[in-house]
Amino acid sequence: MKRREFVRSALFATATLPAFNFVSALARSGPIGDVSAITAEGRDVTLRSAEIRELAERLQGNLLLAGDAGYDEARLLLNPSFDKHPALIAQPTDVSGIQSAVKFAREHNLLLAVKCGGHSHSGQSTCERGMQIDLKNFRGVQLDTAGRKVSVKGGSLLGLVDAETMAQGFVTPLGTVSHTGVGGLTLGGGFGRVARRFGMAIDNLTAMDVVTADGQLLHTSMREHPDLFWGLRGGSGNFGVVSNFEFKLHPMQREVIAGKLTFPFEKMRDVLAMYADYAPAAPDTLYFDPIVVLPPGGAPGVAQLDVCYSGPAQEAEHALAPLRKVGGSVADSIKAMDYVELQRSGDWSDARLLGTYIKGGFISAMPGDLIDALVKGIQGDPRRTTALFFQHCGGACSRVPEDATAFAHRYALANMMTMSGWTHGENATDHIEATRRYWSGLEKFTRGFYVNDMPREATASDINANYRGNYKKLVAVKTKYDPTNLFRLNANIQPRKS
Ligand code: FAD
Repeated sequence: MKRREFVRSALFATATLPAFNFVSALARSGPIGDVSAITAEGRDVTLRSAEIRELAERLQGNLLLAGDAGYDEARLLLNPSFDKHPALIAQPTDVSGIQSAVKFAREHNLLLAVKCGGHSHSGQSTCERGMQIDLKNFRGVQLDTAGRKVSVKGGSLLGLVDAETMAQGFVTPLGTVSHTGVGGLTLGGGFGRVARRFGMAIDNLTAMDVVTADGQLLHTSMREHPDLFWGLRGGSGNFGVVSNFEFKLHPMQREVIAGKLTFPFEKMRDVLAMYADYAPAAPDTLYFDPIVVLPPGGAPGVAQLDVCYSGPAQEAEHALAPLRKVGGSVADSIKAMDYVELQRSGDWSDARLLGTYIKGGFISAMPGDLIDALVKGIQGDPRRTTALFFQHCGGACSRVPEDATAFAHRYALANMMTMSGWTHGENATDHIEATRRYWSGLEKFTRGFYVNDMPREATASDINANYRGNYKKLVAVKTKYDPTNLFRLNANIQPRKS
C-alpha cells in the first residue's frame, strides 16, 4: 500500500508521458548472426550463430536477441533506471527449458540474470551483454487443499497465488503488491499483510525444486538436500533457478478490515510516536505501518497509517483503538475489504515511467532519537516524490530462530525504507543524493538490511555482514552447489576458491 501511495503521487508528475508499449514475446524467424557477449568476469566472448541456433532448438520456449519482438519488455525492469541489454534472453516454458538455458550459460561462462517479477531494487534481474533467463512464460499455481499446500511455478506473480488460494478459502503469506514476483520476494524472505500472523513466505515453504548451476533439477525440503533448502530460504537467488515453490496453506476468511488513516504532514511525529508504542505490542492479526509522502509539485504532504486487520471482525475496533487515538485524521478509508482486492490495491499500470531509488534497514525498536531524526531530516522537493515507509515485522516472523533459515533478521520490529521517485529520463543524481542524505541520519538506528531492498551500491562486505551468523554456512552451501558463482546477480555470496 505504501509503495502504491508513493508511486501514485509520483505519477502525478509523469502524467503527460506516453504509455509504455508492451509487446508479446515472439521467437526470431530470420537469420541469426554471431553475438558479442560478456562472461561473468567481464571478458568479451563471441557466441557463434550455430551455438545460438542449437540453443534455440533445444530450448522449450523463446530465445530473444536484440531487436526481436518482446526483447525490450523482457530486458526492462519495473524501475527503468536499469536500462541494460542482455546478449540473449531465454524465456523457457518448462523445466527442461530452464535447464537448457542454465547449461548454456555455464558452458559459455556467461554473466547470468534471472527474472521473475522484475521488481529488483538493485537491478539484478537484467544485465548488460550477458544472458537473461526471463520466467514470464513459466507461471502457474496448483492447489492441494486436502494436503493444505500450494505449488507455485518459479515465474509466477503473487497476485495469481492470492487469487487462486483465496478462491478456495486459503491464504499463503506473500507481499503487498500483486505484480511482485513470487521468485525474488520469497528467496529474500517475503513480508506481507499476514506475515505477522502466519510467518514470512520462507517460513511457509515445505519444498522447492531448483535447477542448480550444473543444470540438474533438485527437489529440496527438510529431508532432501536440507542444506540447500535452508540456504534458499533467505539466501536470495544464489543457488539456482527455483522452478517450483511449495507453500503451506492457511484457512482465512476473504474479508479483512483494511484501509488508511490519513493525517496532515504536521502529525508525522504523533503517528511515529504511536507506532513506537503500539507496533511491538499489537496482536499478530494486525499489520499496520506509517507512511509519509511529500509529493512533487509542492502539494501538501501526508502522514498515513496503512492497516490490515485479519482477525475476527468484531474485535477490529479494539485492535485499532490506539491508531484512532492519534486524533486529527483528515480521511479514514478503513473498512471491510476483500483480501484479493486489497492485495491488488497497490498495483499500478505504468510504473515504468518512474525512476526510483531506495534505502532501507531493519529496526528492532523506534526510540525517540530515531523519531527526531526521521522528522527533522525529511525534506521534500517539487521535482520528486519523497517517501518514508515501513513494513511491520514481528509476530510470527520473530518466533523463528535466526539460524533456522538463511534469513538472519528475526529481531526486526519493522523494515524502515525511504525512497525518492522522479520522472524517468531526468537526471537522477540529485534525487539519489537527497535519499542518501536523509538515510545518513537514519542508518545508525538499523541493524542490517532486507536483501530484497538492497541498495544498488551495496558492497560484498556489506552483503556478507548482513547475513550475520549465517554467512559461514551460506558460503559452504554456495561452494557445494554453485562453485563457479554462476548465480551472482543477487545478494551474492562468493564460493570458497578451491
Ligand atoms: P526480480 O527482479 O525478477 O528478481 C529479484 C531477484 O530474485 C534477482 O536476483 C533474481 O535473479 C532472483 N529471482 C527471481 N526469481 C527467481 C527464481 N525463480 N529463481 C532464482 N532466482 C530468482 N518485498 C516484501 O517482502 N514485501 C512486499 O510487500 C514488497 N513489496 C514490494 C513492492 C514493490 C512495488 C517493489 C518494487 C518491491 C517490493 N518488495 C516487497 C521487494 C521485493 O521482494 C523484491 O524487489 C524482490 O526481489 C522482487 O522479486 P521479483 O521476482 O519481482 O524480482
